[in-house]
Amino acid sequence: MPSPTVTIKPKREKPIINQHPWIFSGAIASVKDANPGDVVTVVDSKGHFLARGYFNPKSQIQVRILTWQDEPIDDAWWQKMLQRAIDSRKDQPADSGFRIINAENDFIPGLVADYYNGWIVLQALTLFIDQHKQHIAQMLMEMMGARGVYERSDVDVRGREGLSDAIGQLAGLPVPDQIEFQHSPGIKLLVDIKNGHKTGFYLDQKENHRSLEALIAGSDETQHVLNCFAYTGAFTVAALATGKTHVVSVDSSLEALQLAEKNIALNELDQTEESYELIQANCFDYLRDATEAGDQYDIIILDPPKFAHNKQQIDRASRGYKDLNLHAFHLIKPGGYLMTYSCSGAISQDLFQKIVFGALADSGRQAQIVSHLNANSDHPIALTFPEGEYLKGLLLKVY
Ligand code: SAH
Repeated sequence: MPSPTVTIKPKREKPIINQHPWIFSGAIASVKDANPGDVVTVVDSKGHFLARGYFNPKSQIQVRILTWQDEPIDDAWWQKMLQRAIDSRKDQPADSGFRIINAENDFIPGLVADYYNGWIVLQALTLFIDQHKQHIAQMLMEMMGARGVYERSDVDVRGREGLSDAIGQLAGLPVPDQIEFQHSPGIKLLVDIKNGHKTGFYLDQKENHRSLEALIAGSDETQHVLNCFAYTGAFTVAALATGKTHVVSVDSSLEALQLAEKNIALNELDQTEESYELIQANCFDYLRDATEAGDQYDIIILDPPKFAHNKQQIDRASRGYKDLNLHAFHLIKPGGYLMTYSCSGAISQDLFQKIVFGALADSGRQAQIVSHLNANSDHPIALTFPEGEYLKGLLLKVY
């Protein structure tokens, strides 16, 4: 029996011993008997066992590590790893939406799975996961007691693995186009898992949606809220649910705003149409025009899409974030709040804070950090994998 083996160059084993899950081509001395997608044993230059992972010569990340123990990657391994991830989410209600598997951060590189009220949406980001996705879908469905699994592997990173997009039913019953799930106590939302972004919804922002609701609930007067990059209205519905807001929601996508409208109606928050406006516009233009018009808001949310997809795009992205935040500072009433986010992995929390500080300095306003904002606990970050930390935000009080 051939045993696929990857030998690491001398003095290059340190990150592997420190449990970073990626091995780049530059650290590899030789590859024996390994085909694309194979499980390989990783050894140091003296032939000592280091780890076991999967191999793809097309990717710059040639090996992603599955285990640092000398154990087989068999059904028992899969059961153990999936069950561990599921167990750590067992406080999530069965009718809610949450992430089940957060790839490298749940020690299963390349696999993302989200759950929406009995249905699972899976993303296979690498060749190995792609080769095993049917089996994984079946196992996950049974372990979760879910009805069906749909694949949304239409993500850029697959190109770097030599894969094209893959979308469609993977296991179980046909997954409906739209699924209703309990987002937080008293709030239901619809997710369009077939056409929506990512797996259909930004589950990573769930706690932040709730934080907005809590922030408003504590105020006495009607709060004027501007929700920029509103998508399907999760922040909008959270704000409206307090019964104390007027919310302007801006997004460039008509489909997203149409679903936002349905989400507002689903929660019976459409009784007074004066309480909300849904505006299809470019947020950069909208903020600039609103600043020129002298508009004022109590709370502004800035949750833009990823501006920096790699290190080369950091400068341009920084200018984008600064522009948005500068306008937001101009538009906030003294004593109001800014919730501002970046989901660019290439921009660290520290850099993001500096960019927002730069915008504040230019605006001539004053601000305090009320809290640092992150993804919720169903999106854990492995301590050995700093690349896993992409969503960062600030809640600021602005004077
Ligand atoms: N805040 C949302 C998620 C936002 S995702 C939530 O919590 O669910 C980013 C959104 O920005 C997407 O809906 C996308 O359509 C929108 N978008 C991207 N570029 C835009 C632009 N320049 N102006 C307005 N909207 C934009």
